[in-house]
Amino acid sequence: MKRIALLGATGSIGRQALEIIDAGPELELCALAAGSTDVSGLAVERGVRNFQSGGDLVALLEACEPDLVLNAVVGFAGCRATLWALEQGVTLALANKESLVAAGELALTAKERGGGLLLPVDSEHSAVFQCLEGRTVEEVVSIVLTASGGPFRGRSRAELQRVTPEQALAHPTWQMGPKITIDSATLANKGLEVIEAHFLFGLPYEQIEVIVHPSSIVHSLVRFRDGAALAHLGYPDMRIPISFALGYPDRPATTIQPLDLASGLTLEFQELDEETFPLVSLAREAGRTGGSAPCAYSAANEVAVEAFLGGQLCFLGIAEVIERALARADTSAARDLGALVEADTAARRVAAEEVARIERL
Ligand code: MG
Repeated sequence: MKRIALLGATGSIGRQALEIIDAGPELELCALAAGSTDVSGLAVERGVRNFQSGGDLVALLEACEPDLVLNAVVGFAGCRATLWALEQGVTLALANKESLVAAGELALTAKERGGGLLLPVDSEHSAVFQCLEGRTVEEVVSIVLTASGGPFRGRSRAELQRVTPEQALAHPTWQMGPKITIDSATLANKGLEVIEAHFLFGLPYEQIEVIVHPSSIVHSLVRFRDGAALAHLGYPDMRIPISFALGYPDRPATTIQPLDLASGLTLEFQELDEETFPLVSLAREAGRTGGSAPCAYSAANEVAVEAFLGGQLCFLGIAEVIERALARADTSAARDLGALVEADTAARRVAAEEVARIERL
């Protein structure tokens, strides 16, 4: 039996993970947590004694002695749990990309000390992880992260001036929570994923490509030095990467329908319009700057997305706020989690000031 602590149990990833755990004879739920939603019903139904809503997750994790932590918390709030699992050498199935983006080097150091596994749940990174299995970084020319392009693919900046939260929340291929759906519309999600890939796979930024692929069938590719490119294909269904991470190193059966190749499947790829969607190149810049710049990028994005959803910021203002917050951020590296929390707090304060400034214009 594999004992699983599920953090972020009531979100989109959490609910799909519960479905997989409930159906998996080898998987046992040992803890449940959510940011604010009550999880007592979910816990009682499953006979899980360790559960909590809100608060610090470390005490819960220590009490439940998991073999695997599935971190599906949204945003920087997931940092402590990510660092705890890595430090303890407990397998970490990571859906909370923001924690790896923000904690970066600290997370890698913790992983080295703990000696455990870090398994990506993000669909692109799970795809890359699978294409890379058994290979060394020397054999890799680049990894290619695919992006659906979101609901505003093909639009110009002028056309994005007046888009509403409702329009931005209507993602064409993926059903997800509000934060990541807005991140997909601005392409901040792909920016975060570029930084996530850098830390997961140990590749420099020039070896991490992004390509737009509207149907989201190819989840990512790896180009090797012999000219071969390996790709991972499937319908856009998060249960596949969740199941892969929970079952690893096995590949358990799921009820997901096989890919129907003869039904007119098209694999179309396009270059990313960096002018309309500047957040991928801004993420690369933050990644190259290093230190706490990726933390500032992610923190400013969280503040800007919340302001957009709350009607205080226009859609194009999101990138504007992140760019300004990054320019003002102290990007020196955080020595520990306390320093990282300070960097995150400072970036949020600056981003909130920029939101207010843009609002007044
Ligand atoms: Mg993804």
